[in-house]
Amino acid sequence: MRRLQSYITLGLARRMLILFGGLLIAGVAVSEEFKSGIRWLEPKAVDPGPMGGPPSDALVLFDGHDLSNWNGGDKWEIADGCATARGNGITSKDAFGDCQFHIEWATPATVSGAGQGRGNSGVYLMERYEIQILDSYDNPTYFDGQAGSIYKQRPPQVNACRKPGEWQAYDIIFSAPQFDDKGGVVKPAYVTMLHNGVVVHNHTELLGTTFYDQPPKYQPHAPKLPIHIQFHGNPVRFRNLWIREINLPQIAPAP
Ligand code: MG
Repeated sequence: MRRLQSYITLGLARRMLILFGGLLIAGVAVSEEFKSGIRWLEPKAVDPGPMGGPPSDALVLFDGHDLSNWNGGDKWEIADGCATARGNGITSKDAFGDCQFHIEWATPATVSGAGQGRGNSGVYLMERYEIQILDSYDNPTYFDGQAGSIYKQRPPQVNACRKPGEWQAYDIIFSAPQFDDKGGVVKPAYVTMLHNGVVVHNHTELLGTTFYDQPPKYQPHAPKLPIHIQFHGNPVRFRNLWIREINLPQIAPAP
């Protein structure tokens, strides 16, 4: 129904555009208003879905039923619409470059361990750039290793952690690095990120692979690689995982 409404709305918008100075190129609406000198193609309509997504153009990586989009999930427990980390990490079967990744997670309600040993997991973008998942609610550790940090590179701007056992969300906007033929960095990776709706990174430059035992450095790699979810010995739960590839707005061909 919502899609039908948006289709009708779009149809009306196109007709209005033609009436009031727009035109169609190859069946696509193009505005005549372009003070910047750039004639843009019409952005496609996306149904954002319920709060927390998934939007209609997202690839759903876990909807609460199975981990068929992941390698290594055999030992993980699926129950009550969530997946609990056990035994080893999981790696997405698909590879991604620039992307928007949504993940909801909860550390154990019963607190055990301290510091890095308490509710530890992590999102490894491109299998090598870790955004730390940790129970950082009243749990001191090194700042560039707490929840929302780019591991051992950069702390989050603030600590937006909820209490142990409560569901939390990361919305990660990732810009993949680019390398030249000789492995030099043409463009570093960047991360913008919200933790429970709170900005914790704003276009933060990554300094390279997030090693635990050495300073970060870039290692040339493919333009698209899988996402890895870490198992660090703690039964962290996950639900509602989805991803969107990021594409720039398109410029219209010359009329
Ligand atoms: Mg971790």
